[in-house]
Amino acid sequence: LTDRLSGVFEGLTGKGALSEKDVSSALREIRVALLEADVALDVVKKFIEEIKPKAVGESVIRSVKPGQQVIKIVNDGLVEMLGGNEDAKGLRIDNIPAVIMMAGLQGSGKTTTTGKLARRLKTQERKKVLIASLDVYRPAAMQQLKILAEQVGVDALPIVEGQLPADIAKRAVNAAKLGGYDVVILDTAGRTTLDEQMMSEAARVAEISNPAETILVADALTGQDAVETARRFNERLKLTGLILTRMDGDGRGGAALSMRAVTGLPIKFLGTGEKSDGLEVFDAHRIAGRILGQGDVVSLVEKAAAEMDEEKTKRMAEKMAKGVFDLDDLAEQFKQMERMGGLGGLMGMMPGAKKAKQAMDAQGLDDRVMKRQHGIIMSMTAKERAKPALLNASRKKRIAAGAGVHVSEVNKVLKMHQQMAGMMKKMGKGGMKQMAKAMGA
Ligand code: GDP
Ligand code: MG
Repeated sequence: LTDRLSGVFEGLTGKGALSEKDVSSALREIRVALLEADVALDVVKKFIEEIKPKAVGESVIRSVKPGQQVIKIVNDGLVEMLGGNEDAKGLRIDNIPAVIMMAGLQGSGKTTTTGKLARRLKTQERKKVLIASLDVYRPAAMQQLKILAEQVGVDALPIVEGQLPADIAKRAVNAAKLGGYDVVILDTAGRTTLDEQMMSEAARVAEISNPAETILVADALTGQDAVETARRFNERLKLTGLILTRMDGDGRGGAALSMRAVTGLPIKFLGTGEKSDGLEVFDAHRIAGRILGQGDVVSLVEKAAAEMDEEKTKRMAEKMAKGVFDLDDLAEQFKQMERMGGLGGLMGMMPGAKKAKQAMDAQGLDDRVMKRQHGIIMSMTAKERAKPALLNASRKKRIAAGAGVHVSEVNKVLKMHQQMAGMMKKMGKGGMKQMAKAMGA
């Protein structure tokens, strides 16, 4: 997209403001890019209509190319349309026990996501979680959930043959009350197509269990079909949010935009793999970036400046000056890298990226490793993060179990932390300043 746009905008520099004609030709390219990213046509139309008046007349900033300026405006518009910062993050699970009902077509990833959510609630929010399979049609389905429960270390409702989904839902809620569970997740049965029986069954389960969250799980790779599914489910159930799975696949994020626009529902999480740690909190900024596929130095500077928010930078600089760099700081580094589009995204934007990338590859450092390491740190208690020396063998074992990894992975994180801490200490205050300068701050 950036390539196309730079052609459109050549010779534009020096003008006072973006004219209607400039904007129109840029938006034509944007339109194509959005359609290529699998955004629904009517959503694209609506978006372009809304964005146009915002861009026309915008004064041209001297230091930035007009094409990049339009991309920025479009990017901001996408973020807003994706729910931006206004959507409530996470799950509303304050009442005890809180019921989370998972709905969706067969194969969309409900059961897998149920396991992921259970794991997240347990390890990161320290909730006592019960999960129950309401899939009475596929004999293996209940077993699948039970095995998942064992893997992530939560309880599954005992299987009783011959019950209807609504009966199981009732039993699950009762068991949760009696057993002192904080959260009970109901994994419903899906059909391969939208049919009335599935809908009325789901509606009945919702009526009986009174969910705090009714989440539609949809496969991002099915694009337009996922949008239609969301529309139909939203008509019948009081959905409270969406989870898009298979975001690790080739999809460019268009489905996310369409579904948010069509249903108005917040996207809560993204499924990013088959394993139980493949769950990400939805981030509108990242998806907007993914849809636009932008990669240039200006956006690196922009993102870096915006994301490295001053407070944290200052805090970190102070700690570093004292020679302190704890595991919270390491986690923060991982998070910032991720926000900037991961290692790949970052590398794509940096001049001389090839060499740096080779160096990273040589160390076996990729996004997945980074994400796993971040997950490991998040499985530690606040005390442990602030004082890594506390981590004895039994604590390490607990953390490894919580993060679903081997103890050696925990050791790797600690080793990496030690190396970084050593490096930071050497750099001290001057180094930090240099780094901030390099990032355009
Ligand atoms: P359900 O019928 O809705 O319960 O779907 P399942 O949870 O059984 O998932 C169907 C298939 O999709 C399984 O093979 C999962 O491993 C796979 N799957 C689920 N979520 C994801 C994801 O986020 N990424 C990838 N790559 N595969 C997923
Ligand atoms: Mg299932």
